[in-house]
Amino acid sequence: MASEINAQTKLYGILGNPVGHSFSPSIHNAAFDHFGINARYLAYEVEKHSLPLAFEGVRSLNLGGANITIPFKEEAAGLVDEIPEDLDRCVGAINTVVNKDGMLYGYNTDMVGFLTGLHEELNFNPEGKNVLVLGSGGAARAVVFALGRAHANRIVVYNRTFDRAEALVSYAIDFFPETEIDAIDDITDVKNEKEKIDLVVNATSLGMKGDATLAMDLGILENEASVYDLVYAPAQTPLLKEAQRLGMPNANGLGMLAAQAALSFELWTGKKEGVREIMLEALKKCL
Ligand code: NAP
Repeated sequence: MASEINAQTKLYGILGNPVGHSFSPSIHNAAFDHFGINARYLAYEVEKHSLPLAFEGVRSLNLGGANITIPFKEEAAGLVDEIPEDLDRCVGAINTVVNKDGMLYGYNTDMVGFLTGLHEELNFNPEGKNVLVLGSGGAARAVVFALGRAHANRIVVYNRTFDRAEALVSYAIDFFPETEIDAIDDITDVKNEKEKIDLVVNATSLGMKGDATLAMDLGILENEASVYDLVYAPAQTPLLKEAQRLGMPNANGLGMLAAQAALSFELWTGKKEGVREIMLEALKKCL
């Protein structure tokens, strides 16, 4: 049962652009309702130049916290007062803000969310594996750092804007000396890899409902890789349809969404037990 909205109702929300596709309000509100917490979670579409003002809004209107989504995760890392966890600080992109008495703390729950999604949906452990990451935005950063932390053998990053891929690689390389990390500026160069690619991760926004389609011919891998698409709406993205057609194990980003959201919820409320299951249940109703 949803609590009555009154003068004590705490507000949370997602800041991004666009946010119309986001399932976050549905899943967080389901969890607030389940635990009888007097709080509501809304979607805030923020103009590209207004993120600093939105952060001041979180502080001055005393929101309990916020999630950050495309395209703001990297900029947001510079707008909080403190990033308590070392690895979150190194990633340089945050997706969760906790407001404690006017101090804004930033966290990145995408990394653990991604590894949980990989494990739960594909039973995939990145240790010793070779991975192709598509994209170089905030989500790709979290993916590369999560893979490095999980001791992947090699990470190859491809992005439309090669400079961004190079920048991500040259930044990440210092943190994970045991993982080979390279950028490629032509996707077909993946054919020249010495060892087979075990996993392809789409961390671009391509494939999202209404957005352009990711142009990647999975056939060039010439082996059976697993495919994980961070995009979750539509549930079967063009990339996943292609993986399906080629008989490759594949999953969309719903598992990651629920896992990273459950961690945000825990940071805000301290509630952990059963949260991911409640959120997954709520997600099924959104689809
Ligand atoms: P972002 O920072 O805006 O980065 C977007 C990425 O997509 C960049 O690499 C960008 O390339 C690429 N891109 C955008 N339009 C493109 C186009 N037309 N052609 C080729 N590449 C294009 O966004 P983000 O925060 O990293 O998020 C990326 C995606 O991951 C979003 O769809 C988001 O919803 C999803 N996501 C899902 C979860 C989950 O829990 N499942 C969590 C986080 C993110 P350029 O550098 O060339 O612009």
